[in-house]
Amino acid sequence: MGIATLTINLNALRANWRRLNSMSGTETAAVIKADAYGLGADRVAATLADEGVQSFFVAVAEEGAAVRKALGEGPTIYVFSGHMEGDTHLIAKYNLTPLINSTDQMLRHAKLMKNYSFGIQLDTGMNRLGMEPTEWEAVRDIALPLEPKLMLSHLACADEPAHPMNRQQLKTFEKMTKGLSVPRSLAATGGILLGEEYHFDLTRPGIGLYGGDPFRDAEPVVSIDIPVVQIRDVEIGESVGYGNTWHASTVRKIATVSAGYADGILRAMGPKTALYAKSINCPIVGRISMDLIGVDVTDATETPKSLTLLNSKQTIDHLAHNAGTIGYEILTSLGARYERRYDEG
Ligand SMILES: *Cc1c(COP(=O)(O)O)cnc(C)c1O
Repeated sequence: MGIATLTINLNALRANWRRLNSMSGTETAAVIKADAYGLGADRVAATLADEGVQSFFVAVAEEGAAVRKALGEGPTIYVFSGHMEGDTHLIAKYNLTPLINSTDQMLRHAKLMKNYSFGIQLDTGMNRLGMEPTEWEAVRDIALPLEPKLMLSHLACADEPAHPMNRQQLKTFEKMTKGLSVPRSLAATGGILLGEEYHFDLTRPGIGLYGGDPFRDAEPVVSIDIPVVQIRDVEIGESVGYGNTWHASTVRKIATVSAGYADGILRAMGPKTALYAKSINCPIVGRISMDLIGVDVTDATETPKSLTLLNSKQTIDHLAHNAGTIGYEILTSLGARYERRYDEG
């Protein structure tokens, strides 16, 4: 088989949710936008629903429809982008709960879907989604009688615990929701780690479930194994790959493996990244191609049939560091070509 395998450890996913849930001490939802950060929203949602998750968050109504099909009736599916023009049909058909972001969205929802559930998204300083304090002041008399199910805001700097923005947003959120009996949510993964005052009635982790920073204690969820297509001996002075960027200074055994930047193995990570033959570190040599990577397997004790890119030694955050990005971008870049396997452990 020529394609690489991406294995998703569903027991690790469950364990990460349980750990975040015990830290939250309140309802712990799950963010499964972007196909559960690339891992497959249907399987991830079904597994977490079985673990007891009652609320899920997606970015757009279309994602919500797919998740509803996978989950059936029961769990609440919140939509971050709210009630956009043209969404009404999907929201009704799949019983989605839009998070209303603006006066326009509130008026649309009140006019077209008066008796359907919704939540309110508030902007407490990130300036991305949600109503700012003055807008909320103007809209609250329309919104509150319709009984929103949740009031939510999002922290811009929660992965930096000492950042003053965290406390500032907490204060603004408290002020904007003071005296209301609507359940509240402020914390994603980073917010859970900031401590109890950030937890309110519901937390909404994403990346921590999937094994990424800032949840340092997460179990890795994803592993990637890449088949070796061929192995050759490279003599002193010979080069490997596009642009001749790497030359052998001693005789080396070079494996060509069957995956590349089209699979989210970003070119930028090449110079700092190794693959593993069991526990042996085998550095990438030369430039990463679209579908192929050269790997120095001279130190491997056996001739490898495949090499591992992601495992418990090398996590999404190591790759992110090597490529100058974040674990979120590594996960969501992995792409459609992998054979995805779900391991129940
Ligand atoms: C993506 C997102 C989350 C989840 O964030 P993580 O850092 O992955 O835990 C929560 N809330 C909102 C509004 C988001 O956009």
